[in-house]
Amino acid sequence: MAKLTVRDLDVRGQRVFLRVDYNVPMEEKDGRMVITDSTRIVETLPTLKLLIEKGGKLILTAHLGRPKGKREATLSLQPVAVKLSELLGKPVAFVDDCIGEKVEKAVAAMKDGDVVLLENVRYYSEEEKNDPVFAEELARVADVYVNDAFGAAHRAHASTEGVARVVARRGGKCAAGLLMERELKFLGDELEKPARPFVVILGGAKVSDKIKVIDRLLEKANTILIGGAMAYTFKLAHGEKVGKSLVEPDHKQTALDAEAKARKLKVDFELPVDVVVATPVETGKLNKKGKPVFDFTNIRTVSGDIPDGAEGFGVGEKTAARYAEIIKGAKTILWNGPLGMFEDPRFAASTNIVAQAVADATQKGAKSIIGGGDSVKALKKAKLGDRVTFMSTGGGASLEFLEGAVLPGVAALSEK
Ligand code: ADP
Ligand code: MG
Repeated sequence: MAKLTVRDLDVRGQRVFLRVDYNVPMEEKDGRMVITDSTRIVETLPTLKLLIEKGGKLILTAHLGRPKGKREATLSLQPVAVKLSELLGKPVAFVDDCIGEKVEKAVAAMKDGDVVLLENVRYYSEEEKNDPVFAEELARVADVYVNDAFGAAHRAHASTEGVARVVARRGGKCAAGLLMERELKFLGDELEKPARPFVVILGGAKVSDKIKVIDRLLEKANTILIGGAMAYTFKLAHGEKVGKSLVEPDHKQTALDAEAKARKLKVDFELPVDVVVATPVETGKLNKKGKPVFDFTNIRTVSGDIPDGAEGFGVGEKTAARYAEIIKGAKTILWNGPLGMFEDPRFAASTNIVAQAVADATQKGAKSIIGGGDSVKALKKAKLGDRVTFMSTGGGASLEFLEGAVLPGVAALSEK
């Protein structure tokens, strides 16, 4: 069930309505909004260049932040148009609306290969409601629909789903951009029939966030390595003590069921044998969000029970070394969720050891696929982002895709 991609399209002279992910971080400087990280814009350039080369008229649409249906000046995409023009090395016209007369006028004046960026589509509440009338409005300037915003594909919004349905109904084509194509290839096709051994590393905060992924991957993996705070719910389920660690007592049975399924399917299901713990002490200070700031004292590694006053912050050295050995023998690796609270350097060691093992295995020929926003951050922080096969740009969308969910933004694309 392969999806049509921009490579398959002939778009000369056609109006290509292109949904991109330009939800970039911005900061106010001297009364102006300035983009602080242009990665998401840079990542779309190959798709744009290909479509320009093919002679399409590119009408770009995107969202920025959560304006909740109102014109919020700080959430305008205008600075993105300026940045995009700089990066593309050609003019990018900006229209300060995404539907209506202004848009139609601007598009009518376009020549083949021209690029126009429309204003934040979330200035209209109809976008997130996937309002059919609004989708029709958007589609007025669309002959062809392309979606390159994988990170928004898990939402059935007007610009990610509704407009594609309108274009398809009229007999127009709906295709994946090059970024979207890569996401579908690595998170989808490559994991359908993975080279073995297939090792899955699952960490992060909560079992409840990951249980659907665990469940699905139990059917495919040879080995599952568990880390992060979710390991403590397994510990609790085994009757061990977890001290003050982050746990989900309501999910003890979920954890036991996963282990039972692993035994049944003969999947090697590994839990940490040691834990880095610390004693949290209140500092009396509050952070930006008004939450109390803790100091972590007496950092040490324990095996078995986590002492009463202590809190777990990641897998210990023995566990990290064991996991690294297993990873080094893998042919396919999927990693979702850090092994500890990597944001604090005192608890980042295990995540970094595993990241290094993934990079080493990749160098020896394994395919390594990283999904999940924080896992990607952890890998970049370890400066190993360019040593893995693929890092998803999808965040929440990649997690849902790995769960086996049908993403509305993907489902709406034409089959090859
Ligand atoms: P991803 O975004 O890659 O899917 P998650 O959002 O599930 O990953 O989990 C990442 C978060 O889990 C990180 O913020 C990390 O600090 C936290 N975390 C991991 N291990 C622990 C731990 N032992 N204790 C507390 N938080 C943890
Ligand atoms: Mg996350």
